[in-house]
Amino acid sequence: GETIGLLHLVFPEGDSLDEDRESLMISLGDVIKLSLSNLRMREVLREQAIRDQLTGLSNRHYLVETLPREIQRANRDQVPFSVAMLDIDHFKHFNDMYGHDAGDAVLMAVGELLRNSMRGGDIACRYGGEEFLLVLPGCNLDEAKMLVEVICSEVRRLSLSIDAVPLPTVTISAGVVELGRDAPSMEALISAADHALYVAKENGRDRVEDWRCRDLTWKD
Ligand code: GH3
Ligand code: MG
Ligand code: MG
Repeated sequence: GETIGLLHLVFPEGDSLDEDRESLMISLGDVIKLSLSNLRMREVLREQAIRDQLTGLSNRHYLVETLPREIQRANRDQVPFSVAMLDIDHFKHFNDMYGHDAGDAVLMAVGELLRNSMRGGDIACRYGGEEFLLVLPGCNLDEAKMLVEVICSEVRRLSLSIDAVPLPTVTISAGVVELGRDAPSMEALISAADHALYVAKENGRDRVEDWRCRDLTWKD
């Protein structure tokens, strides 16, 4: 019941649409119609497969497909490359206090903020429940840390409400790591970023730590 295209027939002067041609054109229209809707469906399914529905960010599946390629490119082009793992603080408590819808509203707002903070070529991904991974090609560790610190302060300034009831401030903690000899692969980057995030939580949350903290506590 939906129009997805228009088949326009033009005849030379004196010629016209007879019954045979009409049924032929209807069959042709059916074939084109199916192909068009298949193509469109494929695009919709692809979007759904790589995008997180709640936040509109890339999902983990997309990240795992893309990050190794991004690492290769950074190595080939000899440009700095960093990733950051972000996690909303005390989010379980927030959900418990204000409800799941309020929690979802926070996730959506943080997702939008992250999307707007990315430059072309950056990737913001919803890595898990309330965890996000940023891929920052061209950023060294200090630049990445600075960017994530700005994001942290913007999250702190978000003013959200649900059903006209204002919600309290949320904060995030983050761990940042730069690609290099000590973190040469996707797995190593994610694990180091995770570790720095863990240290940020330990140090009181609402802060960014970088993987240099591993010198003190890195056990692997
Ligand atoms: P920490 O500061 O150490 O990160 O504490 P936390 O409470 O944020 O961490 P924890 O891992 O204990 O809790 C994560 C919570 O995130 C639990 C879960 O209910 C919530 N969460 C995960 N995904 C969603 C979601 O899609 N919507 C909502 N509303 N909540 C979610
Ligand atoms: Mg959390
Ligand atoms: Mg978490």
